[in-house]
Amino acid sequence: MAFPINHDMHCHTYLSDCSRHPQQTVENILAHAKKHGFKLQCITDHLWDRMAPGASNWYKPQDIEHIKKNLPLPEDDEVRLVFGCETEYCGGDKLGLNAANYDQFDFIVIPPNHFHMKGLVRPHEYTTEEMVADLLVERLEQLSELDLPWHKVGIAHLNCGLTFKEGSNAKVFRLVDEKRYRAVMKKFAELGAGIEINCACFGAGWREEEDAHLRLFRLAKEEGCKFYLATDAHTPEELNCVPERGGLICELLGLDEEDQFILT
Ligand SMILES: [Zn+2]
Ligand SMILES: [Zn+2]
Repeated sequence: MAFPINHDMHCHTYLSDCSRHPQQTVENILAHAKKHGFKLQCITDHLWDRMAPGASNWYKPQDIEHIKKNLPLPEDDEVRLVFGCETEYCGGDKLGLNAANYDQFDFIVIPPNHFHMKGLVRPHEYTTEEMVADLLVERLEQLSELDLPWHKVGIAHLNCGLTFKEGSNAKVFRLVDEKRYRAVMKKFAELGAGIEINCACFGAGWREEEDAHLRLFRLAKEEGCKFYLATDAHTPEELNCVPERGGLICELLGLDEEDQFILT
């Protein structure tokens, strides 16, 4: 059976500072999900928990209390709505969510490559594709060492355009060390984490560098990882990228039903 194009496990509402779109409400996101026959829709606004030290000024107002303004989520017969978050990871044990609060979320999206946040996520001295590729695999390795509720953790947007904005993202994806990357993906597979296929990362022109964009997912699949689809939508228009692009991406990756990450 083909990989189901019937879920979106990473999506922002107006509560995320980078959205603030008045129409990007839970109700409108749910209506979109119903229209497209989705079975699962996660709400994952940006989060830095007050109990986790080290938030940037941008993150500080986006605490648990703030994103909980979307609760209670509406009940629906067709679509399972899940309250989650997209927190931050800065290496070592610096995660934007304290262990005492893992229970507040049914899904936790962790981005390893918000490298546009220099000084917070990417140290200033990482200035070349080679260095950024090395940092990406190192962050994945460090993250895999943490004691997280892995059955409800998603590793976000591995081929994100924010990875190296001032250079070639495709080059970074090609330069990630295969041996180290395979080893950490094998570990994520064993831990039970989900690997995100973020359809927003497959925008205009991506097929010209198709192998670079698919490389990290192909290797992850070979190491036994499970995958989920995401829009990472910040606006109503962006909600369409799973229905529009998900099928092609999954086909090119050779994913089928058995490759799906299931959130219990
Ligand atoms: Zn992100
Ligand atoms: Zn996001």
